[in-house]
Amino acid sequence: MRVQISGLAKRYDARAVLRGIHLTIASGEFVAIVGASGSGKSTLLRLLAGLETPDAGSILLDGTPLRGLNRDARVMFQDARLLPWRRVIDNVRLGLDHAHDDRGAAALRMVGLPDRDRDWPAILSGGQRQRVALARALASNPRLMLLDEPLASLDALTRIEMQRLIESLWIENDFSAVLVTHDCAEAVALADRVLMLERGGIAMELRVSLPRPRDRGDRQFGALEGQVLNRILGRDNAAAQLDNSETNRMARARSAR
Ligand code: ADP
Ligand code: MG
Repeated sequence: MRVQISGLAKRYDARAVLRGIHLTIASGEFVAIVGASGSGKSTLLRLLAGLETPDAGSILLDGTPLRGLNRDARVMFQDARLLPWRRVIDNVRLGLDHAHDDRGAAALRMVGLPDRDRDWPAILSGGQRQRVALARALASNPRLMLLDEPLASLDALTRIEMQRLIESLWIENDFSAVLVTHDCAEAVALADRVLMLERGGIAMELRVSLPRPRDRGDRQFGALEGQVLNRILGRDNAAAQLDNSETNRMARARSAR
């Protein structure tokens, strides 16, 4: 799904959160959004989901203005938000038309949990719960996946596993994706483009054209990750290089000892 955002603005009382965002997301593109806490990332996702209305500007979905709920989109949050009194499969089928019940099992297969369908959410690990949330999002075959820090509360290893899963599902299912994350490596691992929100606008845009799946140990990967991190921390490149050479000097000093 192609998404064209123009002049998008949102304020809460006196606080202007988004001030005229312009952004086009190509059909099937994977965009990551980074930025300080409170910079409006979740607000932007809620606007894309149609859960909030903008004060100004427009969102076009394949050329059609978004009005009300975005039925082609699904949102995934940091917490899985599963209903504890429903079994896994019924959580996945939530909101699905009964005619599409088989999609629930298919989605559970896609996330690698085909045999957990009759389990209660309470006995699953955090990573498994996020897999179920992902299956629930996939079951309706969305054309736009909105991911609001979905992996933030997982341990590092599970997070990397889930990133690989999200990437392969994105490749197989062809949806456009917008991922909000505070993890620069995650942004560089998954996104075609990394955007940074700051003071209500897009303050940085970085295209990542490394081949997939991306090798985190790769030098270019590290350089891009550093670029995003330094930008978030508000350091310019010269300062970042200085900092690097300082780090290197200390490393040399350590190894000389
Ligand atoms: P982020 O996801 O980047 O951390 P948010 O989009 O959640 O930021 O919030 C951006 C700003 O808007 C914050 O200052 C937040 O307090 C404010 N905000 C978000 N939602 C509401 C709301 N429903 N009512 C009032 N203020 C809100
Ligand atoms: Mg947020």
